[in-house]
Amino acid sequence: MGSIYVQFGELVKALAAIEATTQRTTMVKLLVSLFKKASPEEVGKIVYFILGDLRPPWEGVELGVAEKLCLRAVSKATGAAVSELEALYKKTGDVGEAARRALAASKRPGLLAFGSQKPLEVSEVYDTLLKVARATGEGAQDMKVALLSSLFARATPEEGKYIARFVVGKLRLGIADMTIIEALSDAYGVNKEALEKAYHVYPDLGRLAKHVAEGKPLDEIRITPGVPVLPMLAQRLSSASEILAKLGGSAICEYKYDGERAQIHLTPGGVKIFSRRLEDITHAYPDVVKAVKEAVSAKEAILEGEIVAVDPDTGDMLPFQELMHRKRKHDVATAVELYPTVLYLFDVLYVDGEDLTEEPLIYRRVRLSEIVCETDKVSIAKWRIFDNAEAVDVFFHESVSMGTEGLICKSPSSIYEMGARGWNWIKYKRDYRSEMIDTVDLVVVGAFHGRGKRAGLYGAFLLAAYDPSTDMFYTVCKVGSGFTDADLKKMYEILQPFKIPHRHPRVVSKMEADVWFVPQVVIEVIGAEITLSPLHTCCLGAVRPGVGLAVRFPRFTGRYRSDKSPEQATTVAEMLELYKRQKKVVQPE
Ligand code: AMP
Repeated sequence: MGSIYVQFGELVKALAAIEATTQRTTMVKLLVSLFKKASPEEVGKIVYFILGDLRPPWEGVELGVAEKLCLRAVSKATGAAVSELEALYKKTGDVGEAARRALAASKRPGLLAFGSQKPLEVSEVYDTLLKVARATGEGAQDMKVALLSSLFARATPEEGKYIARFVVGKLRLGIADMTIIEALSDAYGVNKEALEKAYHVYPDLGRLAKHVAEGKPLDEIRITPGVPVLPMLAQRLSSASEILAKLGGSAICEYKYDGERAQIHLTPGGVKIFSRRLEDITHAYPDVVKAVKEAVSAKEAILEGEIVAVDPDTGDMLPFQELMHRKRKHDVATAVELYPTVLYLFDVLYVDGEDLTEEPLIYRRVRLSEIVCETDKVSIAKWRIFDNAEAVDVFFHESVSMGTEGLICKSPSSIYEMGARGWNWIKYKRDYRSEMIDTVDLVVVGAFHGRGKRAGLYGAFLLAAYDPSTDMFYTVCKVGSGFTDADLKKMYEILQPFKIPHRHPRVVSKMEADVWFVPQVVIEVIGAEITLSPLHTCCLGAVRPGVGLAVRFPRFTGRYRSDKSPEQATTVAEMLELYKRQKKVVQPE
């Protein structure tokens, strides 16, 4: 273990050497010798500093210091005019270099004010920077400047350079988490794999560094509600048979929802939601927090799922871009109203003291259904077990036609592999995106009751294409988008005369509508594309057995085609033609 206090100058020397080397091994050696000089407390702080952070990502601690503010602090410490410093910054393009030159040129009134020339210590610098980050509210800017200038006043020019770069977020040493892990392993003689594993469970390197420096055993580091683990990731294959072969013949296939991945921690203190990159995103989803509290019966739990935007009036899934509305901090309350979400849970890693990460997926799925009571806002991701590629394909098309990206196929016996992109989870996505270029005119054959703003009216409509050879109507989509309030009233009114108590005999549908109509009203619709779908009957079996065609993400264009009789609507043959003619574009990864 190192001396009592490591001077900040030592850290800076190591940083300069690290920047100068071209050898990764030298980089690791420099880190090792630095760690060896420091106390456990200091090692933790050094690690945070080197990574350019003050705390782990999910704590969201930010310095809130831009270049201008930093230069104000340098000015206060050196007596140099801000304009002069700005010019220096402009010339060098590096705040650190501007600070270094200004400090080298100054007589430093600050040094006198402090009454000593005591060199800065690592802990002092770190603790002061943490105070800078925590200064918020009224007067925060002045407070930040004062704290920073107290550091610059005592810093050597070289130290000032690194402090300045750190505070504006431009330290950029290019030291990866794995390099730190390697150095910690060398410095304290701990097994690298064990250290990596601990890091996956508790990805806070500053804390991990302190822990090993204290000589504590790594098996004390366990999955902890409130601390996000590194998420398990998926590989990719493009055919169901390859996927089944890779997974040993059978797979748990789940809808691959198109939303934002959420690691949800339920603790006695409340619910926290973490992103795939371990950031705390709880503030964006107050509705999910509330819904999880209602749906999950556990005191403590770690769950994984996908938050998906849904159409407020129909409950249909929307593409993930719709979640962007949640990202504007001040608008969250309105966004919750206008852009509701549903949480689809697909895994559980921990329940009331029970670590489930080493348990097989099939068991975790059972535990998940035991603790979750599904509601409007919280569902369990749709899943089935298959051992036959054709059945996987039908499920895949069903999933896509519901607005997802495809399937994630998982090995039923696999453990939860934190931080790994292994072959136990395989995504099965569509490998092209096709675009629907033309509108279609479809016949309203059924409707679904509206909710929320649409209560009392219809929220969505079941539409069909016509087949002259059988004189029947075959469904192609359920549409709820594109209607204004006036449209919905009008649709309700014009459909009343055609309402019947059961499906019309000329309509072929697998879907059960709330209300059925005589096929009469024709409306114009456009969608993102025409896809294969087992839910609709248009061209059933024409492309693939058991699967029909559907309009994906359909939207009413605003045009009522009262000029068209239902027999003049788009035909099933035209739908098939449109499907075949779609522009196929390679979808980027
Ligand atoms: P990708 O982002 O294409 O690598 O696909 C993996 C992502 O799919 C995950 O990170 C999740 O956000 C998302 N996802 C959606 N549904 C599931 C599911 N059922 N299981 C696992 N991941 C899912």
